[in-house]
Amino acid sequence: MKRIVILGSTGSIGESALRVVAQLPSKLRVVGLAAQGKYERLLEQAESFGVGDVALADPDAAAACAKAAPAVLRVHSGDAGLCELTQLDCDLVLCAVVGIAGLSPTLAAIGRGVDVALATKEVLVAAGGIVTAAARENNAQILPVDSEHSAMFQCMEPRGSDSIARILLTASGGPFAGRADVDLYKVTVEQALNHPRWNMGRKVSIDSATLMNKGLEVMEARWLFGVDLDRIEVVVHPESIVHSLVEYVDGSVMAQLSVPDMRLAIQYALTYPERVDGGLQRLDLPSIGALHFSSPDQERFPSLRLAGEASRRGGTMPAVLNAANEIAVSRFLDGSIPFTAIWGTVESVMKAHNTIADPELADIIEADAWARRAANEL
Ligand code: MG
Repeated sequence: MKRIVILGSTGSIGESALRVVAQLPSKLRVVGLAAQGKYERLLEQAESFGVGDVALADPDAAAACAKAAPAVLRVHSGDAGLCELTQLDCDLVLCAVVGIAGLSPTLAAIGRGVDVALATKEVLVAAGGIVTAAARENNAQILPVDSEHSAMFQCMEPRGSDSIARILLTASGGPFAGRADVDLYKVTVEQALNHPRWNMGRKVSIDSATLMNKGLEVMEARWLFGVDLDRIEVVVHPESIVHSLVEYVDGSVMAQLSVPDMRLAIQYALTYPERVDGGLQRLDLPSIGALHFSSPDQERFPSLRLAGEASRRGGTMPAVLNAANEIAVSRFLDGSIPFTAIWGTVESVMKAHNTIADPELADIIEADAWARRAANEL
């Protein structure tokens, strides 16, 4: 029986994770649940899964939750409350909060040697060097939840990164790839959220539509698997059946395939190293018929180029790219800026940033805060 804490339980990944847990009651037990502010849903979840500890990042929501909660339930408050949940008696923390807010709780779990199933890619993008070093030091494993990285992980041979020639990271391309008829300046929030293959949270859906999600995933892969950036290639694959591929030095290519359902990647991370039948839909290749692959259009979608630049500059620049992107996406979602201004904002903020090489955690947090201010001003 694995005891797990789920951070971000009311979001898309968190809800899917609870469906996985509900299918596997003899394997998985939830001991802690955390959300940003949706305390009513959090209380429902705590009751159905018999959870003793919950946390809300928003202190007002935590106060309201404490009033509404049964006396036996411990309610933790604020960012510190999320970190407190990682200190419960548990075997695994699933981090699925949105954005850089996942960094402190991830480090808190790793710091006591607890494995982290990581869905929040921004954590590795902004502070990959620090997080992976802390994981090595404390003998904690970071298990990928992102479907592409789960695929790479499943295709990895235990021979180390020297035998890997390339990682081929697949991208659905989002709703606008190959749609030359769409004027990206005029794209509405509704169109951008309407992902053709995956049902996901709002932030990652917009990142998918701008292809920034792939840029962030390249950086995520680099830290997870210790593979140089120039050996990670993005391939557009609109069917989202092949979730990524690993090419070895002898030319052999391993791929992981499945129907596009986030629950498989989540389940693999939660039950690893075991494989179990969680009742998920099986792949029927004859009914799919054909799979297509092409190169991404980096001129129409500059996000991939920006992410590449940020990773090459290194230091605090990836954190700056990430923070500027988080702000720009939220501004697009609230209707303040057009779709194309998302990458425009990111590029301008990057230009204005003086990179700090070999940053400490405090430098990264400061760069993140600076980039948020700069993006908001723009
Ligand atoms: Mg992904």
